[in-house]
Parts: sequence; C-alpha cells; structure tokens
Amino acid sequence: MKDLKSLIENQRRFFLTGRTRDVSFRIEALKRLKQAVESHEQELYKALDSDLRKPAMESFMSEIGMITREISFVMRHLRSWTRPEKARTNLLNFPARSRIYAEPYGVTLIIGPWNYPLQLTLLPLIGAIAAGNCSIVKPSEIAHATSGIVAKIIGEACGEEHVAAVEGGKGVGEQLLAERFDHIFFTGSAAVGWIVMQAASQHLTPVTMELGGKSPAIVDADADLSMAARRIAWGKFLNAGQTCVAPDYLLLHAAIKDPFLALLRTTIKDFYGDDPQKSPDYARIVNNAQFDRLAGYLRDGDILIGGEIDRRTRYIGPTVLLNSSWDARVMQEEIFGPLLPVLIFDDLDDVIGKLISMPRPLSLYYFSRNRKKQKRIIRDVPFGGGTMNDTILHMVNPHLPFGGAGQSGFGSYHGKASFDAFSHRKSILARPTLLDNPLRYPPYAGKLRWLKKFFTWDR
Ligand code: NAD
Repeated sequence: MKDLKSLIENQRRFFLTGRTRDVSFRIEALKRLKQAVESHEQELYKALDSDLRKPAMESFMSEIGMITREISFVMRHLRSWTRPEKARTNLLNFPARSRIYAEPYGVTLIIGPWNYPLQLTLLPLIGAIAAGNCSIVKPSEIAHATSGIVAKIIGEACGEEHVAAVEGGKGVGEQLLAERFDHIFFTGSAAVGWIVMQAASQHLTPVTMELGGKSPAIVDADADLSMAARRIAWGKFLNAGQTCVAPDYLLLHAAIKDPFLALLRTTIKDFYGDDPQKSPDYARIVNNAQFDRLAGYLRDGDILIGGEIDRRTRYIGPTVLLNSSWDARVMQEEIFGPLLPVLIFDDLDDVIGKLISMPRPLSLYYFSRNRKKQKRIIRDVPFGGGTMNDTILHMVNPHLPFGGAGQSGFGSYHGKASFDAFSHRKSILARPTLLDNPLRYPPYAGKLRWLKKFFTWDR
C-alpha cells in the first residue's frame, strides 16, 4: 500500500504551488475524468454487475450517466462560479467594495459507500476538483470490482499529487482519518459518520456528512394510484433497494389500501415478470452479511408479495410486508434492501405527528393531488429533501442541492452546491484610502449620539 503520509504531503506541496487555482487546470482535469469514465464504460458495467448484478440500464442511469452529465454541467458553469461574487456594502462601511471569493480548502478526503460505488465517489470528487482542491478518494472495499476501476479512472485522469485513490476497508479508512485534511466528505452509515466526525474534530476539520435513514413514502387517498404504484416500485426496487434515497417504508391511506396494493402487485409483475429471480433487470444483495440482515426482517411482518430468498445467489425478491409494528426491527432500522413494509393510516395529522417524533430522514415522498396538503408536509415535517408524487428524482436535478438533515447528514452537494461544499467563502471588504470618517476613533466625547443615528440608518 502507498505511504499515505507522503501521498498527503505531496498533495499539500502541490496545492501550495497554486496550480489547482487555475480554472483551466480544473476544467482540463474534469475533461480527462469524463474521458476516463467513458473509456471504461464497458468495464464499469462488468464491475457493477459483478458487485451488485446491477443491470446496465441502472448502471448508466444512476452511476455512469450521472457522472458524465454532472461533469458537463460543471464545466459549463465553472467560470461563472469562480468569479468573485459581488455583495452590497452597508452604510456604516461606506465607501467600500464588498466581494466574496470562493477559495479551495486544500487537501480533501472523500470516503464512499458500496451501493453506488462509482457515483458516490466521483460525484463529490467533481465538486472537489471544480473548487480547486487536491483529493484522496477512498472507495468502499465491499464493491471491490468497481473500487478497482474507480482507482484506475482516477489514476488515468489525474496525477497523484492532485487526486489519488486509496483502496481498502476500515483499516485504511482509520489510517486516513488519523491524518489532517482540510475537508472531509463522507457518504455512508451514521455509525461510521460518527467515527469520521470524532477524527475530524481532532484537527477541527470541516465535514460534509451524507448519511442514511428511514425515508418514508406516503400515499394519500387522493393520489393517482397506478402512477404512485409504478413510481414507488421503481424507487424501492432499483438496485434491489440498496439506495440511500429509496422509499424505506410506505404509509398508505386506509381508504385506498386494497386497490393500491393490488396495483403494486401488478406493477411488480409488469416490471420483473412472474419470477423476478429470472429478470435481467433486478439486482442482487451485495454480500452475505447484508443478505442475512435483510432475510431476518422477513419475520417482522406478514408477507403480502414476494418473500422468496436464495442465499447462494444473494437474491431477495421484491417484497411487500403488511402488519409490521413501529417497534419491529424492520421499522426501527434502515432497511437498505428490497423489502417494503406498509403501514396503514386514517388521518394525515397522525402521520405528521409520528414523523416529527422520528429522526429526520434523508428523503420523503408524498403522493397526493392536493397542493395544500403537499405544502403542509413540506412545512411541517423535517427531512433532507424529497419529491412530490414521485421518488428519488429530486437528487437528479443538478440545480437542487442534495443532502440530509439531522441524523441523515448535513451539508449538501450536486451542481453548484458541490462547488460550494468544497469552497471556503472568503469575504473581503476593500476600503479606499481617500476618506477616513473619524467617528469611530477616540476621543469619543460627543460621538455616541451620532453613532446611534448611524446604527439606525445602517442598511
Ligand atoms: P459504511 O458507513 O459502512 O461505509 C462507508 C465507508 O466508510 C466505506 O468506504 C468504508 O470502508 C468506510 N469505513 C468503514 N469503517 C470505517 C472506519 N472505522 N474508519 C474510516 N472509514 C471507515 O456505509 P456503507 O455500508 O458502505 O453504506 C451504507 C450506508 O450509507 C447506508 O446507511 C446508506 O443510507 C448510506 N448512504 C448514504 C448516501 C447519501 O447520499 N446520503 C448514499 C449512499 C449510502
């Protein structure tokens, strides 16, 4: 394994040369990154297939295409983002010019999870490069085939002094965290997020935390039911449920229980056929530990749809559970797999009250045609972000910052928000030397009255 200390020192020296501050240098690096991803497209399909049996369509839609599209978006806007931002000057400081300069942090660390092993390592990296940082990227060891290609792509696109991939598991993660970085961007579980924050606190390193949680989908009585069934089934069973923004569980209005569940059953059949195990469009569970954890949840409710498992191929069919209780493990822990517990409600007020009492989820999906009720959910329930009448898609709009709230994380990224996540906003007030109002200087006699007037006039 590479000598981490010298790798980081080398990046620090390179950062201090100022090369990464040149916007053309950043754009060139992003271009090479895009080319490297495109030239390894076929290998990526194979690696994602071997790690998760991810269908090519899903690999493109949620990994490869997300990266190439984001790079194009960032390259189009980067020059305008890097320009100093004009700010107003208040009366007390008059005359002066106020500007905000986006400054790179320096040497940054990006730690990624296994479920979207390409997207969730390279998407933050695009922000880090765009903002002019150096970066160490640690992909997850669990998606080891993709981790290898990510390392190869980074090696081809950038010199080690600028961006380097360091492969490995917990041990390597711990070694990295013992070093000082100028920013840490972590995507993963809250348990490891806590370890990362503890390590970061030793150096007062700022962090971005992209964590998980239990994201609810709520289908109200006035929703378009067949549309809701399709959109929830897609969001839930994409990547076999191993998606941080997947609807974790479903809250279903009692008045539409039977028709909605019947539609969900036909939708699952339409998507994956009579035997989803034979479908080329359905992924597998990443490893045995995750498989066993998920299989255990099957006892936490009555199986209405699916429930088939095959440990040898790590297959768990698209499953819908009824009659789970809020106290069951499946309703206490983040599921992160293709099991959808359904709880029935009569009154939206009860749903809101319950959700407010729970940890803030990463996402929320509310299905209703009533705009007033949509607004109520947005106003009254705290969550990271969400989509009304659909699932997942809010994270595919590069104009919307993506991130959690409370225990599902803090800080956000995607598009301009990624550039901001990896930049320090340096505020500068530039004062001319021609005038110098003596009001603030001693002796103060007779000045307080005037100062008070200025304070009331200040804008
Ligand atoms: P994880 O926390 O187990 O691992 C994440 C990364 O941390 C991996 O690279 C791992 O090697 C590393 N790591 C593990 N122990 C470490 C330690 N002690 N020190 C340093 N590094 C260490 O998470 P996971 O199982 O890979 O991913 C699943 C979790 O991630 C779920 O909770 C999911 O909701 C969350 N997630 C969140 C988002 C998001 O965008 N908010 C996206 C995907 C996944």
